Amino acid sequence: MKLFCTNCKKQYEDDSFRVACTKCNEPLEVEHIKTGNIQYDNLFSQSPLQRYQAFFPWVDGSRAVSLGEGFTPLVNADVLAERLGLKELWLKNETVNPTWSFKDRGTITGILHAVKLGYKRIGTVSTGNMAASVAAYGAKMGMETFVFVHESLPDEKLNPIAMYGPHVIKVQGDYERLYTETLKISAEQDIYFVNSDVPFRVEGYKALSFEICEQLEFNPPDYVVVPTGSGGNLRGILKGFEEFQTAGLIQAVPQMIVAQASGSAPIVEAYEQGHETVKRVESPCTMAGAIANPLPPSGNQVLRKLRDAKGLFSSVSENAIVKSQEDLAKAGFFVQPASAATLAVVKNLCNAGILGKNDRVSCILTGSGLKYTKAFKAHDLKHHTCKLDEINNKIREIG
Ligand SMILES: *Cc1c(COP(=O)(O)O)cnc(C)c1O
Ligand SMILES: [Zn+2]
Repeated sequence: MKLFCTNCKKQYEDDSFRVACTKCNEPLEVEHIKTGNIQYDNLFSQSPLQRYQAFFPWVDGSRAVSLGEGFTPLVNADVLAERLGLKELWLKNETVNPTWSFKDRGTITGILHAVKLGYKRIGTVSTGNMAASVAAYGAKMGMETFVFVHESLPDEKLNPIAMYGPHVIKVQGDYERLYTETLKISAEQDIYFVNSDVPFRVEGYKALSFEICEQLEFNPPDYVVVPTGSGGNLRGILKGFEEFQTAGLIQAVPQMIVAQASGSAPIVEAYEQGHETVKRVESPCTMAGAIANPLPPSGNQVLRKLRDAKGLFSSVSENAIVKSQEDLAKAGFFVQPASAATLAVVKNLCNAGILGKNDRVSCILTGSGLKYTKAFKAHDLKHHTCKLDEINNKIREIG
């Protein structure tokens, strides 16, 4: 496989750990697959990498390495759709992945690429879902795993990562510099960093769109709403749809919608202000921590790509996120704030008349609400208490 710079198109060989272009520092991307079909075997005996093997030709996606990632439900949210005045609303429930977020899809492809290059050590810089995911797959594959977190990370968030047994290193100092620092450390220490938008992590996210295509009988939605932090997931999802279109499996590629929180919306702001590149958010402030990347490494590429593909961009307030988290829970989905931002964005675009009764929309519910229990405080959660012999009365009173 060849790699290309997403900006200047400089070509690279797939012979070492590469992340960004040496000329312009923009993210690299694996070349597009132009032909291929689905491996229509027994779904229950396959991993996504086997079913879509033609689109992952560089890897042997055997079930031996899988933790059961992917093949997540796509649920018809008919009540919400009706309330919003949409034709259809589909919720892609990524919270049921092995470590409760979509990150697992990219972690497995990233690690398989590391193995292919002969690496024995992997690492990541993350505070949350990505760290847990890399630690879990590192454990499954018996690789030495290094997780770098900021020293301020509370134990309640650190311990779910530490459970998988990686080396957890709390780093003091500027967390953001750590990301660039890891690229230097990588060469010195022979560690493959499966960070947020490395090309072979982004590849794994393609299966998310392949599944949506199959789940909707190859008639994908008009819009896909993606909670966007680094931009890796959005890039992978879009690439997946594009490859299926090129291969003749679907007619049209859905329009992507970037969902960010107003408290940290570098990509949405760059778009709205007509900038070519994202500007750093000086003090990100949102409960949607998973999408609060102050300087998203794939931000410029998301801008370039969605200008061509006529994508939409929207940011939402904390209140809107909390309300949408509640609405989703009442529809049966307890997701973390970053994922709830998708529904908040859909509401915004419906109110603005941009989405309406002819539109089929899908929201990517990227991660589980149990990952961020601090959000409970933002909700008015009620409990009732009564004595054992008062239960009948109590039910009559509240029912
Ligand atoms: C990582 C993450 C995101 C953001 O994904 P990017 O690929 O960084 O854009 C969104 N939601 C959840 C729950 C995440 O863990
Ligand atoms: Zn370049």
